[in-house]
Amino acid sequence: MLLTDDGEIIDDRFTRVADESPIPDDAPILVSATRFLERASDLTHRHAPVGVIWPNDKNVSELVPFIGKIALVALIFPNFRDGRAYSQARQLRERHGYRGELRATGDVLRDQFLFMLRAGFDSFEPRKEHEAAEFTRTISRYSVYYQPTGDGRIPALQLRVAHKRPAHGEECDVGVDASPANLARLNQVLDDATPTQIIANAIQTIPNGRLAVVSSFGIESAALLKLVADLDRSLPIIFLDTGWLFGETLAYRDELVGYLGLKNVRTIKPSAASVATTDPDYSLWARDPGACCHLRKVVPLAETLTPFAAWITGRKRYQGAERASLPIVEADGPRLKFNPFARVSPKDIAAIFRSARLPRHPLSWFGFTSVGCVPCTSQVREGEAIRAGRWRGTDRTECGIHVRSLSPTTGT
Ligand code: SF4
Repeated sequence: MLLTDDGEIIDDRFTRVADESPIPDDAPILVSATRFLERASDLTHRHAPVGVIWPNDKNVSELVPFIGKIALVALIFPNFRDGRAYSQARQLRERHGYRGELRATGDVLRDQFLFMLRAGFDSFEPRKEHEAAEFTRTISRYSVYYQPTGDGRIPALQLRVAHKRPAHGEECDVGVDASPANLARLNQVLDDATPTQIIANAIQTIPNGRLAVVSSFGIESAALLKLVADLDRSLPIIFLDTGWLFGETLAYRDELVGYLGLKNVRTIKPSAASVATTDPDYSLWARDPGACCHLRKVVPLAETLTPFAAWITGRKRYQGAERASLPIVEADGPRLKFNPFARVSPKDIAAIFRSARLPRHPLSWFGFTSVGCVPCTSQVREGEAIRAGRWRGTDRTECGIHVRSLSPTTGT
């Protein structure tokens, strides 16, 4: 029995093979460090995945020559006082770029589950089966973290600054573009198309260099970026750094750029002069979130999109609110806006993550289902809508980049 990082209990697909036992040809196996190191070149060229049980007194740098070929590293916690496996996990993840499964074995306690997740583990062998459900409940008890770790979470002190004022109740800008005849035709043509076909259609029909993707590098963004990367890794991808983003999001952007081989990610920011004039103490989000989104999101994106004829978004109908009736193609002033995921389900997104083994946004482990700026994002409770944590306690559901046509002069 194994526990995954999202709380699922699954069967272990790896078979533990003792040092003296024969190695099966075609099953995923888990072997001792001794056996692995003796036969590493054979084992890493089998047709089935290989994992290694790594003692906590052995330097993980010995695994570096094989790092891309090891499907699983099982690290050992001999007792709860011995934390050397935490250091090994972080070294593997952060120093050696290990992307396979990291498993915690031995004295795996639920009280340490959260820190294990933060250190980079993604599967666990709880001591007792009936304790497994308690592990995930443990995580939901924490919303603030005091110690900084390699996962880049913002520690409590910084969060306190961000949350010191209550959220403002102002409505966001709302508007719906009228659909011209060519949009009706495009939506009809693409009605049965898959997300990949819709993206391919945009790439083929929009003049070269005039199509962009806009991505928040949020919880589900990797799915769209994966499909885009499969078609054209050089497509411009615009990422809006408002100055208020979580450190985890910035780190995740860098991770996905490397993982997917994206070649043209453009990070844009609000003008420093405008921020200094309009929001010198970074309190605008609390006084006037509409103005804050306008300053930090709408205007810089409108300016950046000026030379583009069309852009691609990752919005879905299942995100609800204004997105529930999202068309596949819509107008954004003179530009086209493609929404290849308009019709997909959460299961479709999960399937893309699974099949491509996409890295997950670090905050997805902690109850965040949609992530934006620090002061305007909170965790979501069971049964809440996917974007319920955005601008919680206000009527605000969108930042403004999608509710009106963007224009470089007004930003709306
Ligand atoms: S989401 Fe919040 S912090 Fe970010 S730009 Fe909008 S109001 Fe400002």
